[in-house]
Amino acid sequence: MAYPVTLIPGDGIGPEVADATARAVDATGVHIVWDRAELNADIIMKSGEVLPAHVLNSLERTRVGLKGPVTTPIAGGFPSVNVALRKKLDLFANVRPVRGLPGLKTRFDDVHIDMVIFRENTEDLYSGLEHEVVKDVVTSLKVITRHASLRIAHYAFRFTRETGRKKVTAVHKANIMKLSDGLFLRCCREVAAQYPEIEYKELIVDNASMQLVIRPETFDVLLLPNLYGDIVSDLAAGLVGGLGVVPGANMGENHAVFEAVHGSAPDIAGKGLANPTALMLSAVLMLIHLRERPAADRMLAAIEGVYREKKYLTPDVGGNASTTDFTNAVIAGIRG
Ligand code: NAD
Repeated sequence: MAYPVTLIPGDGIGPEVADATARAVDATGVHIVWDRAELNADIIMKSGEVLPAHVLNSLERTRVGLKGPVTTPIAGGFPSVNVALRKKLDLFANVRPVRGLPGLKTRFDDVHIDMVIFRENTEDLYSGLEHEVVKDVVTSLKVITRHASLRIAHYAFRFTRETGRKKVTAVHKANIMKLSDGLFLRCCREVAAQYPEIEYKELIVDNASMQLVIRPETFDVLLLPNLYGDIVSDLAAGLVGGLGVVPGANMGENHAVFEAVHGSAPDIAGKGLANPTALMLSAVLMLIHLRERPAADRMLAAIEGVYREKKYLTPDVGGNASTTDFTNAVIAGIRG
């Protein structure tokens, strides 16, 4: 069976990690027909479209994307491609599994960390509704709806049940934002009541951040609105070795786009130093989504094998191998 997949290499280190990942996926023997859709700051500026038609048309056709990072200008310029894509395709759930890799030295490598973060992906302060009331006074609207909150909560609880996980922790600041976070929390409680076998807990976001650092092993599934989800998932990535090793999936009813958590890393772009682990692990999630579980397991085992061996690790995780060395070692592991 052949699967069409849109490959968006992105910019910065994006093309390096995307090519490495496509090579590794191909080595599993799963027949992916890659539809390469270029997207970078240059194309966006020239076309005047954050999401040019060739990218959207391809994703409409394939319904599955593997995406490298795209640089977003800070405090001005065009809006975030990533946010636009999530909204346009209604990719309502951002899912980030956070697990340690074998042998990877981190500050927390003696702790068993294995959590999955479910972040609402379409609203909250990411609605982009900002307004200058008068000069030097700006408001930013936080939008929380019952529809989106129930949808992400159902998604997280269903996943928890299907994977045999035990506990969901909803994260909020409803003591201060009583209406918006209050609504999010009420929706989480409503859904939790339908899953009595799953332990349900609530934590205020500041306390959750501290608990994640002092006892990360107690977390299982986390359920958060958009902004807290963004911040907390980078915090969680830091527990297991940083942005270079954590995958992500943006899931909707009809489309799924898999991407690493990290950005375009302009400081190391083009130097052959980028770590493709995060995008490779995102591709493992993609293979599971395509119901190619044995190939996904083989690719994951090969990545873990390279970490265990420690010989071909990139500089960000303490090695001195290049992107290509690491990729070749993973491919050798996949081929067994
Ligand atoms: P970044 O993730 O690009 O880089 C942060 C640090 O981590 C840098 O020192 C970088 O070298 C390192 N790093 C990141 N990924 C790495 C990898 N795979 N291998 C080795 N080292 C890695 O974050 P930033 O500098 O804040 O953002 C740069 C640009 O990326 C910004 O324009 C931002 O908007 C964009 N961005 C895009 C996405 C996305 O497309 N999904 C996500 C985050 C940031």
